[in-house]
Amino acid sequence: MTSTSGNSNGPPASDPQRPGRSPWTDPNPQDAERSWEVGIRPQSLTEFVGQDRLRENLSILLEATRLRGEPLEHVLLTGPPGLGKTTMALLLAHEMGAEIRPTSGPALERAGDLAGLLTTLPPGGFLFIDEIHRLNRTVEEYLYPAMEDFRLDILLDRGPSARSVQLKLERFTLVGATTRAGLLTAPLRSRFGFVGRLDFYEGDDLTRILTRTARILGVEAQEDALRELSTRSRGTPRIANRLLRRVRDFAQVRADGRVTLDLAREALKLLDVDEQGLDDMDRRILEAVVTRFGGGPVGLNSLAATVGEESDTLEEVHEPYLVMQGLLQRTRNGRIATAGTYRVLGLPPPERPASQGPQDTLF
Ligand code: ADP
Repeated sequence: MTSTSGNSNGPPASDPQRPGRSPWTDPNPQDAERSWEVGIRPQSLTEFVGQDRLRENLSILLEATRLRGEPLEHVLLTGPPGLGKTTMALLLAHEMGAEIRPTSGPALERAGDLAGLLTTLPPGGFLFIDEIHRLNRTVEEYLYPAMEDFRLDILLDRGPSARSVQLKLERFTLVGATTRAGLLTAPLRSRFGFVGRLDFYEGDDLTRILTRTARILGVEAQEDALRELSTRSRGTPRIANRLLRRVRDFAQVRADGRVTLDLAREALKLLDVDEQGLDDMDRRILEAVVTRFGGGPVGLNSLAATVGEESDTLEEVHEPYLVMQGLLQRTRNGRIATAGTYRVLGLPPPERPASQGPQDTLF
């Protein structure tokens, strides 16, 4: 999970530093949500909905590994936040009957932090490093021999008396997760035996995920209501599950607890989630490109400053979905509006949409 902003517990309040940020649909995970997620996360590959090709590849990898009686090779999972990378890491360990220690790139500040985790892992244990693109270079270099030869080269002393001792490790599996695969160094990337990408989910898959979540939470919800929620969840299970929880609240307070289509629509309106699943921040981004920057191109930092959001959050959380929906283009010269941008904002398109300009498209 990517932590790109401060956390708060309980019902989120609007962040005064970030005007326009919707407290209910903020895609950044909250600590309170993590504890909630525990009962919801699928524990096996068969419970994991969607991502069919990835699941098939991983099930072959798992089965072959089990047949050979070996520990699983190192796995790298990439994709936007909330699509199931952490869930997949936990269930891979579960499928292998192995213990898993979760940590994150920024948490591993020194080589000692890494050594502490790796030297205490049981044979065949899993280490999960979320946001692995944020590992510092020193720790990353310690990781290379650990991944390849299951040893740590510890440097003792400094200067002329410096010497290194080798520490033998049990065989382990590293699962790395990243929202920014492009930021991973080539040596690190090449040490993973399997690299899998998670993509945004189709509506049907999200409806299946919501049906499962509703069952686990004991929410009585009509199928068309769940389908409506799935089309407004930006292709993201974390957002789908969050919207379901909020709509459940609404149903309990304003009705008899049952989630019907009309009630779901009413709740979503109050939550400021539109038909496409765009929230307030998404619309602010699109509006800024069109009205403040004449359709672009506009650089990431200028855009982030204009909408009052961090550049990283814009790039990792909001933009992938907008780009996938054809509502924004990322080019070498900056972000530009498309014909779709004008359409969702209800504005007349310019004579020649900015996206047909001479810029090279990056994605
Ligand atoms: P990421 O690590 O990619 O940010 P998570 O693994 O934390 O995402 O998933 C976010 C939430 O969505 C979790 O509550 C998880 O249970 C749920 N989820 C993600 N993918 C699936 C899936 N394929 N099927 C069911 N639930 C899912």
